[in-house]
Formats: sequence, C-alpha cells, structure tokens
Amino acid sequence: MRETKTDVLILGAGVIGLSCAWYLLQRGRRVTVLDRGRVGGGASHGNCGTLTPSHAAPLAMPGMVTKALRMMWRKDAPFHIAPRADFELFSWMLRFAGRCNWRDFNAVNRAKAQILTRSRGLIGDLVATQGMNCGFAENGTLYVFRTQRELDAFGWHLDSLRAVGIAVEERSAAALQALEPCLSDSVVGGVFHSGDAQLRPDRYVMELARLVRGAGAEIIEDCAVDDFLLSASRVAAVQTAQGRYRAEEVVLALGAWSAPLARRLGLRIPLQPGKGYSITYERPALAPRIPLVLKEDSVCVTAWDDGYRLGSTMEFAGYDSSLNRLRLDALRRGAARYLREPEGPRVCEEWFGWRPMTWDDLPLLGRSGRCANLTLATGHGMLGVSMSLASGELVAEIITGATPVLDPRPYDPMRFHL
Ligand SMILES: Cc1cc2nc3c(=O)[nH]c(=O)nc-3n(C[C@H](O)[C@H](O)[C@H](O)COP(=O)(O)OP(=O)(O)OC[C@H]3O[C@@H](n4cnc5c(N)ncnc54)[C@H](O)[C@@H]3O)c2cc1C
Repeated sequence: MRETKTDVLILGAGVIGLSCAWYLLQRGRRVTVLDRGRVGGGASHGNCGTLTPSHAAPLAMPGMVTKALRMMWRKDAPFHIAPRADFELFSWMLRFAGRCNWRDFNAVNRAKAQILTRSRGLIGDLVATQGMNCGFAENGTLYVFRTQRELDAFGWHLDSLRAVGIAVEERSAAALQALEPCLSDSVVGGVFHSGDAQLRPDRYVMELARLVRGAGAEIIEDCAVDDFLLSASRVAAVQTAQGRYRAEEVVLALGAWSAPLARRLGLRIPLQPGKGYSITYERPALAPRIPLVLKEDSVCVTAWDDGYRLGSTMEFAGYDSSLNRLRLDALRRGAARYLREPEGPRVCEEWFGWRPMTWDDLPLLGRSGRCANLTLATGHGMLGVSMSLASGELVAEIITGATPVLDPRPYDPMRFHL
C-alpha cells in the first residue's frame, strides 16, 4: 500500500483548508492537502462571494426563535427546518435557542468582528500582492428594504456594528436610487457598509490553490479520507482512497463534512449542514455595482464583470442532496420584488452548498484537547470566505507555536470539550 509522509496534512481543499496551507507554507512547513473531489468543489464554489465584516452580528438574538418558528411553516421561507426525528439537530436547536440573549449576542459580535476585520484586510493585501485574478472589488455592500416597518426595526444592527468599530451608514430611498439604478421604486431605504468587499469565490479558491502549489504544496484531488489510525492519542495515519498518509500535524478542514469524519476520531463536533442555494446567470444589462442584500426576502445579489448571482436561504435538512426548486424559485421571486432586471439573460448554474453551522455562530480554530496532533479549522457557517485568511493565519500560528495576532480564545474547540 502506498504511504506518504509530510509535515502537515490538511484534510479539505476548500477556502479554509487552502488558507491554512498558505500560511503554513509561509512558515516553512511542508504541506499536503487532500480532497475527495476537486479543489473548491464544496461550499466554497457557488456562494455569494461577499467579504463582510458587516455580518459580525450572530444569528442568535432575542426574538429569533419566534421569527424562525413563524418561517418554519412556509415551505419557501428563507429559513426552513425539514421536520424529522434527529436528536443531534434537536440538541443543536436547543443550544442555539439558549444563545438568543444580548449577553451572548454582544460577545459573539465582538469575536466575529475581530476575525472578519482581520481577514478582510489580509484578503485585500493578498489579492494585490499576488495579483490574484478573482473579481475582487472594494465597493462595500448595501442592505435594501421595501417595508418601512422592517427598516425601522433595524436599529440594533447599526448599534451592534458601531459598538465594534465597523462602518455603517443609513441611506434614503432617493440616495439608493441614485447609487443603484437597478433598484425598483419598491425600495424605501437601506444601509451601506463601506468596509465590505466582493470576489468571485470559485476563482478565488482556484487562485489560492495556484499560490499554494506555487509555494510547494501538493494538492491531491479525488482522494477521500475514509478513516484514521490512532496511536497514543495522536493521529498516526490518515486512511484514504489513494493510500495512507502520515504527518506530524493534521488539520481537519472538511467544512460541513467535518462532523461525520471527526466521529471516527471520537470527537462530536456540534455542526449542522445549513443548506443554501444560488443561481448564476450571464450578467444582466442593469446589474448592481455594489453587492445587495434584499432584506425582507434574505436574497443576496452579487454581480461581477462576467456574471451575476442570486443566493442565500438556510435549510436544515441534514445531508439531503436534492436541488429544491421551491427554494430556487424563492430566490427569483425575492429578487423580482426589488430589482428592475432581477435575472440575467441565461442561467449558467443552479447550485446548493452546505454551510458548516455551529450553534454559537463561531468557527472552531485550534488544537483538539483529545488528539494531540490534530487542529480543527471548521464551522465557518455563513462566512467562511470572509473569515478565510485570518483563520488560516491563526491555525498556522497555533501549529508553529507563534504568538497569535488575534485573541484565539473565542474560537477554541475546547469550548465544546473537543
Ligand atoms: C448559498 C451560500 C452563500 C454563501 N455566501 C457567502 C458569502 O457571501 N460570504 C462568505 O464569506 N461565505 C459565504 N457562504 C459560506 C461559505 O461558502 C462557507 O463558509 C465556506 O465555503 C466553508 O469553507 P470550507 O473550506 O470550510 O468548506 P468547503 O468549501 O465545503 O470545503 C470542504 C472540502 O472538504 C472536502 N471533503 C469532504 N469530505 C471529505 C473527505 N471524506 N475526504 C476528503 N475531502 C473531503 C470537500 O470535497 C470540500 O472540498 C455561503 C454559503 C452558501 C451555501
């Protein structure tokens, strides 16, 4: 049987695994990355590509449980839980509900703001210094509303961002129309985040892979990790479809698949796959310059020079891999309520991906307390692209024993006794 040895073995070639690889290479480690499919073929492929410190606020906040329960009964709502007997999901939901208070909200808001802000800066720098061709643009993001009631109730968002030093400005309907002629008359106002940015996520991941390979790493595709060999509380080897791999250090960056694989190591990562959808079109004539979030319908709209995407929705349906037409249609209908030209001339791709969702809305970045040479880099939920480089930087600092730039404590997997 083929057996390969390296310094660091990274499981998963999504945006997180590749970001870890990049910073480990910068610190002189030999790196091999394994993926069961193609580079960036998971959630990192068809997401909305927004880089958003403005999304620092956690999902769990007072009032969220009632809001979620109301939505559950509408099959095409942006949030849906497929009813089924699943103890793990039930326990996840209970933990989530327990976080819907202002104390936890403020703590998570601070922790997400620090990693999002750091990552946003690192991505801008990397794109510029390495000449990455990935549709990166620093135009901010715009939330738009079509009901005054929802807009009036959004004050908490402005307060929460200002509390952590993230720029946010209100915009009148007239100002929005002047800024974005693609918006229809239905829009009553909005909120602008000047510090946000955008990129084309599939290209970004391919560019990251190019840099990582150029820096000496090997990326092995079609190489599914099946199992682990444990010895004296260490990962002695990783068993794959292409043989056995050994390394001093192993990084688990398998996105929404992290939980089932970690079970084989005896670790119960509290992760649920949060299914989201997107439709990619050829660019319509009247496309937004700034990425939009159509608030009442929770639809994200991103346009690049050569494409246009509607995305979002959050469905807890386990690992159900069907492409739910109701959800795709909900994206289209949502966009039509705000935009003069909601769809592009031709559909290029209809897609879904699983976000790796933790109930405290924070990623797991750090060493496992139970497996000495295992580091977790997963659980990035709705913001994996936005948090990618700061996550990779932190993982590399932890593995090489350097002093972290960020306070690592909020992301420590030990909070889940892992
Ligand atoms: C609709 C939608 C819109 C989104 N919009 C945004 C956005 O605008 N901005 C943002 O920041 N984030 C966004 N996200 C979230 C973002 O896509 C994820 O947080 C991020 O891609 C997670 O990256 P990852 O590397 O952890 O996981 P993934 O990209 O899923 O990578 C995991 C990798 O592990 C591999 N793998 C799985 N099992 C095995 C195995 N057994 N052996 C080997 N390899 C394996 C997979 O093939 C995959 O390549 C969005 C997500 C969705 C679904």
